[in-house]
Formats: sequence, structure tokens, C-alpha cells
Amino acid sequence: MLNHHSHRRAEAVSVIIALGLTATTLAGEVALTTMDPCVSATPWLPLVIGNEADVPAVSLDAAVEQVQAIWATAGVRFVRIQPTGGPLPSLRRQVPVVIKRALGTPITLPGSTARHVGKPLAWTGMDGEGHPAGRIEVSFEAVTAVVSEALYFGKPVRSFPAHAQEYLAGRALGRVLAHEIGHWLFGRAHTRDGLMRVGLTGDELISPRVPALPADWTAPGNDRPLANSSHCGGGTPTGTPTAAGSLAARR
Ligand SMILES: [Zn+2]
Repeated sequence: MLNHHSHRRAEAVSVIIALGLTATTLAGEVALTTMDPCVSATPWLPLVIGNEADVPAVSLDAAVEQVQAIWATAGVRFVRIQPTGGPLPSLRRQVPVVIKRALGTPITLPGSTARHVGKPLAWTGMDGEGHPAGRIEVSFEAVTAVVSEALYFGKPVRSFPAHAQEYLAGRALGRVLAHEIGHWLFGRAHTRDGLMRVGLTGDELISPRVPALPADWTAPGNDRPLANSSHCGGGTPTGTPTAAGSLAARR
């Protein structure tokens, strides 16, 4: 009855293709090339979302709102950007995401004893040193499947009207994304509680109570959390992704 899906990391090679993304000018004013969130006192990052899964607008909007609300607690602001093709800005200045219907089969690294158990909801490309590389990939089908089996205020989500289901799927998508962004910015580590736990249940992905980011990312006075992140800490921001952290649902 209980189907436990555990989370493993560093065992998977994400299939990364050339992105061909570019960032457009925001609000007609600030070009991305002038921004470096690693040195900015009020860091913000473009969230470049490729929607390959035809995610409904209500879901996508809810997902972006969720990411923004969660990461605002750590003083990081996200601005949604559509991929438009063209040259790729430095990964240090963006977080590239592709929402797919289903994720591919990860390749197990030689020598790794870890295995994926269960279907991953998402994974994050990282280079051999744990710095972000490639992009974040999320499976909308997997997220939707978990949500459809969840309860919201004690009622099965699948008994709700379609619009409400789409909204809750978007909220879950946003929390999954916010978790993966945690890996993108701060590396592979997990916490015992909150959003950066190894596995999140469907109920937690849609609950009115938002799972919190780790306290040391949101501590008052930590006004530049990104400065100490793996995202900004050197490495090879355009390096080849060799391993991925993935998030699976916990039942
Ligand atoms: Zn994780």
C-alpha cells in the first residue's frame, strides 16, 4: 500500500542538450548582461522556463508564483523569462528550467552503487564538483500523477473541478522547482525538514502550509545568501553536466 520512493543523488547523468536560450531585456530597461546576482545586494535571477509539456497557463502561473514566494524568504527574487533562442547567457546569471512530460532514463554513473527508486519528479544538472550545469528538468506528468493522488483539506484532489486541479498541480510544480533551485544554488545537500527534504509527499506539495527553506538560507541578516552558494562560488558555470540530483515523491 505504501510505496516508498527514496531519493538518491549523484548517480544520474542528465541528458543535456544545447539550450539555445537567450534572455530578453526585462521591463525594457535592465539587460541581463549587466546583472550579476552573485555581487548584487538585492539578488534576482531570471527563471528561464521552457514549457515542453504544454503546461496550462493557470498551472504555470501558480508554479512561478510559488517559486517567487518561497525564494523571497531567502531574499532572492525570480523573474520569469521565456526562452527565445539565440546565445546562452552565463548560468551564473540565470536558472534554466525545462518542463517536460516525462523525464528520460538517467544513466547510472560507473562505480555508483546508488539507484533511482521510483519515478523522479525532477532533476538538476551538476558538474563533477557539484556546481550547477546544464539545466533543471521537471516532469509535469509525474508531478500531476502525485498530485492527483493527494488529499487537499481531506478530499481527494481528483474530485476537484479541473481548474482547481490545474492550480494545485501548478503549486506542486512550483514547490518541486523551488526544491531543485535549492540544489542549483546551494548544491546537493538535503535537510531533515522543510522543502529541502529528500522526498516530499503529494500532500506536502499542495498543502496551504508552504514547506520552508533551510533556516540558514533565510536567516535575518543573511542579506546575501547567494554570495556563499555553489552557484556563485566559482567552478565552471558553463561546465558539462555529469551528475544530477533528483527529487522523487514520498508516499
Ligand atoms: Zn533533492
